[in-house]
Amino acid sequence: MTRSTTCAGPRQRKARAIQVGDKHASDCARRSLTRLTLPLAAPFDALVLVDACIDVAVVAGAHVAHLAPGQSRGRGTCGGGHVIGHATMSPVELSIALAEAEDPSGTCTTSQPATQHPAPSTQNQENLMTDAQRARTKVHTPGERSDVRVAVIGGGVIGLSIAWTLARDGCDVEVHDDQPGLGASHAAAGMLAPVCEAAYEEPELLALGLASVQAWPEFAARLTQASGVDVGLREEGSLWVGFDTDDAIGLGRVADLLARHDLRHRRLSSREARALEPALSPRTSSALQVPGDHSVDNRQVVRALLAAAERAGVRIHRQRVGLVTVDGRAVGVRRVDVGDLNSATAPVHEADLVVLAAGDGSAHVPGLPDCARYPVRPVKGQILRLAGATGLLERTVRATVHGEKVYLVPRGNGEVVVGATMEEVGADLTVTAGAVHHLLRTAIEVVPEVAELELVEALARCRPGTPDNGPLIGYTPLPGLLVATGHGRGGVLLAPTTSDALHRLVSDLPMSGVIEPFAPQRFSRSAHDVTEGIA
Ligand SMILES: Cc1cc2nc3c(=O)[nH]c(=O)nc-3n(C[C@H](O)[C@H](O)[C@H](O)COP(=O)(O)OP(=O)(O)OC[C@H]3O[C@@H](n4cnc5c(N)ncnc54)[C@H](O)[C@@H]3O)c2cc1C
Repeated sequence: MTRSTTCAGPRQRKARAIQVGDKHASDCARRSLTRLTLPLAAPFDALVLVDACIDVAVVAGAHVAHLAPGQSRGRGTCGGGHVIGHATMSPVELSIALAEAEDPSGTCTTSQPATQHPAPSTQNQENLMTDAQRARTKVHTPGERSDVRVAVIGGGVIGLSIAWTLARDGCDVEVHDDQPGLGASHAAAGMLAPVCEAAYEEPELLALGLASVQAWPEFAARLTQASGVDVGLREEGSLWVGFDTDDAIGLGRVADLLARHDLRHRRLSSREARALEPALSPRTSSALQVPGDHSVDNRQVVRALLAAAERAGVRIHRQRVGLVTVDGRAVGVRRVDVGDLNSATAPVHEADLVVLAAGDGSAHVPGLPDCARYPVRPVKGQILRLAGATGLLERTVRATVHGEKVYLVPRGNGEVVVGATMEEVGADLTVTAGAVHHLLRTAIEVVPEVAELELVEALARCRPGTPDNGPLIGYTPLPGLLVATGHGRGGVLLAPTTSDALHRLVSDLPMSGVIEPFAPQRFSRSAHDVTEGIA
C-alpha cells in the first residue's frame, strides 16, 4: 500500500512522491500508514495524504492538502504545491509527472513555493493528518467556491471571526446563535493587552497574545474594508499606575517579568505619568508605561464582523442549536430553543464541519459526546460604561489602588469603560451593587473626574475560562467537530490568530507554532470530568 519513486527534474532537485493508501483500508489503517510515511516524505518537500474520498493524492512542494475526487487527476494548484498525480498512476507515470512538476518551463500552474512555508512539526502533521474528519474537507484554489459546508455554533467575536475567515476561503458557512454578539464579546473592554496580562507561568499564552496583538492592525484594516465599520483600534499603548509602596513593589515585579521576556516597558515617575495622562490623580505614586498593549472597540468589532461575514455570504441563524451526530461523526446542528429541547423534528442544518465556538456555554451544547465536552467554565465579569469622557484619557490606564485592580479604557465615542470583576460564581449575569460600588470607587481614586461622568451601563457576562487559562483550538476526537473556545480574558485579542488557525486547519495548511500548545487534546483525559451534571 506504500511505495516511493525518486526522480531528478531538469533542475536536478530530487523529488520524491510517496503514495499511501487504499480506499478500502479502515480509518485505523490509514492513520498508521500516514504516521509511517510522513517522516519519510518531509525531507523531500513531498507529502501525500490519505483521504476517505479519494484514497490517495500525490503532492509535491506542498505540506498538506485535501483533494476532492474530481481534482485528483492531472495538474493544478493545491495548497502550496502542485497536484501531480493520483493513486492509480503507475510508478512510471508517477516519475514522469514528478519530473514535469520540477520543470520550470512546464505548464503547471504555480503557487507559493513550499520553502516559503514554515515546515510543520511532526506532531502537528500527525494532528492534521490523522484526524478522520479531514475526509470531509475539500481543497479549493483561491477564488474558487468550495462546497465545504461549515456550521459555527456561537456568534461571538470568535465564531464570527472564524465564519468571516472561512467564508473568504470559499466555504459555505452558517452561524447559529440566538443572540449573536451579545455574550462576553458584548461586555469586553476591548483591551489587546498581552503584555499587561502576562503571567509568570503562562509563556505560551504570552506568545500567542503577542502574535495576536501584532496581527490586529492588519485584521482591523481588512475588517473595516470589508464592512465599512471603523473598529476603533487605538495604538497609544497602556499606562499602569500604583498608589502606595506595595502597589509600587507590584509594578516592579511586573517590570521584571516584562524585562525577562524582552517586552518594551518604561518605569515612570508620577510626574511623567501625569504628563502623559493629565487626568490621573495627583496621588499616583508609581507608573509603568507599556507601549505594546492596545485596544479596540469590541462592540464595533462585532458589528463589523456581522456585516463582513454577511457580505462574504455567511448566513446567520438566530437560534440556539445542539450538535447532530450520525455514526460517531458530527453531521450538522439542530435548533434546540427553550421548549423545543431535544426535538427530533427540528430540521438539521447539515454540515461537513461543525465549529464549536459557544463561549462559556461550550461545555453545555446539547448533543456533544463526552469526548468533546471540554472543561470550559463561566468566569463572571462585571463592567461599567460611562459617557461624557471625550478627551479625558488618551490610552488605557490600569491601576493597582492599595492592592485593588481596575482599568479604564477610553473609546472614540467619548465613553470610558471601567472594569472588571473576576468572579467564580457560575453562569450568573446579575449586576451587583457591591461590584458597581467597587469599580466606581476605585476608578474615581485613579481619575477623579470619573465622578462627573454619566453611568450609562452596568453589565455582567461570563468569560469562557479553562483550567490553564489557554484557549482550545483544533480538531476534537469527534470526526467533523472542531473547537474554538475557552479564550478567557482574551477572546477579543485572540480573534485574529484563532480565525487564522481555523483557516489553516480547514485548508490543511501548516499551523502557526504559537497555536500548537492550545490543541484541545491537552484536556482529553479530563473531558469526562465536566460531563457530570450536564443535561
Ligand atoms: C467583563 C469582561 C471584560 C473583558 N475584557 C476583555 C478585554 O479587554 N480583552 C479581551 O481580549 N477579552 C476580554 N474579555 C474576554 C472576551 O470577552 C471573551 O474571551 C470573548 O468575548 C469570547 O468570545 P466568544 O465568541 O468565545 O464568546 P461569546 O462572545 O460569549 O459568544 C459565544 C456565543 O455563543 C452563543 N451560544 C452559546 N450556546 C449556544 C448554543 N447552544 N447555540 C447557539 N449559540 C450558542 C451565545 O449566545 C454567545 O453569543 C472580557 C470579558 C468580560 C466578561
